[in-house]
Amino acid sequence: MRAMVLERTAPVEDEPLEARDRSELRPEIGEVSIAVEACGVCRTDVHLAEGEVSTPLPVVPGHQVVGRVLERGGGVESLRPGDVVGVGWVSATCGRCAFCVSGRENLCRRARFTGRDRDGGYAEQMTAPERAVYRLPPGFPAAKAAPLLCAGVIGYRTFKLSGIESGGKLGLFGFGASAHLVLQIARHAGCDVFVFTRTPAHREHALEMGAVWAGGSEDDPGILLDAAASFAPAGAVIPQALRRLERGGTLAVNAIHMTPIPSFDFELLSGERAVRSVTNFTRQDALEFLDLAARIPLEPETHEFPLRAANEALSKVKRGQVRGAAVLVIRN
Ligand SMILES: [Zn+2]
Ligand SMILES: [Zn+2]
Repeated sequence: MRAMVLERTAPVEDEPLEARDRSELRPEIGEVSIAVEACGVCRTDVHLAEGEVSTPLPVVPGHQVVGRVLERGGGVESLRPGDVVGVGWVSATCGRCAFCVSGRENLCRRARFTGRDRDGGYAEQMTAPERAVYRLPPGFPAAKAAPLLCAGVIGYRTFKLSGIESGGKLGLFGFGASAHLVLQIARHAGCDVFVFTRTPAHREHALEMGAVWAGGSEDDPGILLDAAASFAPAGAVIPQALRRLERGGTLAVNAIHMTPIPSFDFELLSGERAVRSVTNFTRQDALEFLDLAARIPLEPETHEFPLRAANEALSKVKRGQVRGAAVLVIRN
């Protein structure tokens, strides 16, 4: 089977992923093997390829995987061959720490991640533990379902942690794969959405999708936001977002890596404003979100690439040249 393998970290323009032929995969006890049909390309994959987020090498990246179960290992009860399934970023958690036993396994320090600690979906096949596999709602073709598995579910967690209430004014800073799905969730909740992005094409996209305002991160929409979410890997956005936030509002930061945050006056934070990061997701988040995605229904916009073009897809994600979500389409 064919896989795109990260053997060395390098700028994605230098094409760090190599195409390799590998032997067919067999599931171990408690796992299934999956014939991959589509895999989303996430900014985290850019950080992994470039060494900003550490990873053991070699590794097959890819943690927004949609495919069909090929074979199940011993002890697997909930899945059968042929089932359409998805796999996301969280592959395993310890199940015993204070976080795991209180429903906050997203914070487990022993968590292992798909496409980092074990091979992911930039390949024709992968294996995954039963607990890391989700049944997908009907109605989504594989390429459209793929971005739900990270951009969507972590975006959903970001939306929740921002504390925005139905009908409120929500600011989104950065408008890529995750934010374009959060915009749809927010509109479904009756919120007015304000989008801040330096990319003119992304502003246009946001307005087409129903944002009430779109501008640059320095621009003033003339109102104060009840809550905000940042998707940009740039620390400079934090004080810019705080400047637009109403008293008592939360800025939820969806990032796994960020450039340093510049110092700012306390005044921007006073008035009980809060900044909080968003880390991974829980299984409960994923189940809730997949159900919501089908009910809205979310319409992910995808820019599709063949598996062999994974390096090009990473470059485009890095440069913000993708409208919606980048997806590798592996089988049809
Ligand atoms: Zn991701
Ligand atoms: Zn744990």
